[in-house]
Amino acid sequence: AERFRVTVVGSGNWGSVAAKLVASNTLRLRSFHDEVRMWVFEEMLPGGEKLSDAINRTNENVKYLPGVKLGKNVVADPDLENAVREANMLVFVTPHQFMEGICKMLVGKIRPEAEGISLIKGMEMKKEGPCLISKLITDMLSINCCVLMGANIANEIAVEKFSEATIGYQHSKEVAQRWTKLFSQSYFIVSAVQDIEGVELCGTLKNVVAIGAGLVDGLDMGNNTKAAIMRIGLREMRALSKLLFSSVKDNTFFESCGVADVITTCLGGRNRRVAEAFAKSGGNKSFDELEAELLQGQKLQGVSTAKEVYDVLSHRGWKGLFPFFTTVHEICIGQLPPSAIVEYGERTPKFS
Ligand code: NAD
Ligand code: 13P
Repeated sequence: AERFRVTVVGSGNWGSVAAKLVASNTLRLRSFHDEVRMWVFEEMLPGGEKLSDAINRTNENVKYLPGVKLGKNVVADPDLENAVREANMLVFVTPHQFMEGICKMLVGKIRPEAEGISLIKGMEMKKEGPCLISKLITDMLSINCCVLMGANIANEIAVEKFSEATIGYQHSKEVAQRWTKLFSQSYFIVSAVQDIEGVELCGTLKNVVAIGAGLVDGLDMGNNTKAAIMRIGLREMRALSKLLFSSVKDNTFFESCGVADVITTCLGGRNRRVAEAFAKSGGNKSFDELEAELLQGQKLQGVSTAKEVYDVLSHRGWKGLFPFFTTVHEICIGQLPPSAIVEYGERTPKFS
C-alpha cells in the first residue's frame, strides 16, 4: 500500500507545533513516510542566519517556538513548490490573511489526489459573501479539505499538556480518520464530526469573542463580566454560523472547537492579551502597534475577523441581530470606547 507523505504549509507558533505532532506519528505509523516537510516563509534572523537554516540546524523554530525540539524528521524548506511537490497530505497552518496568496502560488503545483486539512482560524470576505479558508483552499486548488480546530494554545501543546481537538469533515469519514490518526497523541485527543462549516466557524468566530474578553480584562471588570462575554459571544457564534449555513449542528458548539476554545482563548490567548493592552492604553495605541510590540512576529486573527464579520452583518442587514460582534469591531476601529463592550444600548439581540 502507498505510504502517505505529509507537508505542513506554515511554520509559525501553531504551525511548528502541528509539525511536531504529526512528525512523531509519521515515525511511529507505517502508513506514513517518516519525513515531514515544513514550508517556512523565509526571513533573516538578527544574527544573519536564515530562519529555515536555523530550524534545520537546531531542530527548533528559534523564532516562533523556541526551546521545543520538532523531531529530527521535520525538514524546514523555504521553497514552497518543492515543499509540496511530493505530498499527498497537506496541512495548512498560516495566519489566514496570507492563505489566498499562498494558494495562488500553489495552483498547478500540488499532486491532484492530495488531501488537505486547514488549522487556520479566520475567513475572507468576498463580494459574494464570506468564504471559509477550507473553501478557499478547495476552490483554488481543487482538493478536498477538512479542518482541525479546538482549545489548542500552541505553547501548551508544545510541552505536551493534555488537550482535545475537533476535526470537521464534509464527505469522507475515511479521510477524516486518516487525519485523526496523523494528529492523535495520548495528550492530544482528536474527534471528528461531520460539520465542517460549524467547526471552522467556531474556530474563526471565537477570536472575536477573545477580543471582547481581553477588553474586559483591560478594564478590570472581573470574572462575572468575562463569563458573560463568553456566553454572549458563544450565542452569537452559534446564531451567525446557523444563519450562514443551515447545516451547522448545535452539538458542534459543545465540542473542543466550540465552548472549550472560547474558554481557553479568553483566558490565555494572544487576541485576549493584545485586546487587554488596547483597553489599558486608553485608545493611545492601535491594535497593529500592539501586535508588533507584544507578539514578536506572531499574528492576531481576531481584529481582522471582527471586520470581516462586520462586513457580512452590514451586507445582510444583520447588525441588529449581533450587537456583540458589531460592538467589538466598532471598538477595534476606535468608533466606540472599550467600555462599550458591556453597553449595547438599544441593540437587543432578537434571537434566543
Ligand atoms: P503566527 O501567529 O505565529 O504567525 C507567524 C507566521 O506567519 C510565521 O510563520 C511567519 O513566517 C508567517 N508570515 C509572516 N508574514 C508572512 C507572509 N507575508 N506570507 C506568509 N507567511 C507569513 O502563526 P500560527 O500561530 O502558526 O497561526 C496560524 C493559524 O493557526 C492562525 O489562523 C491561528 O489562528 C491558528 N491557531 C493558532 C494557535 C496558537 O496558539 N498559536 C492555536 C490554534 C490555531
Ligand atoms: P490566539 O490566537 O488568541 O492566541 O488563540 C489561539 C487559539 O486559537 C487557541 O485555540
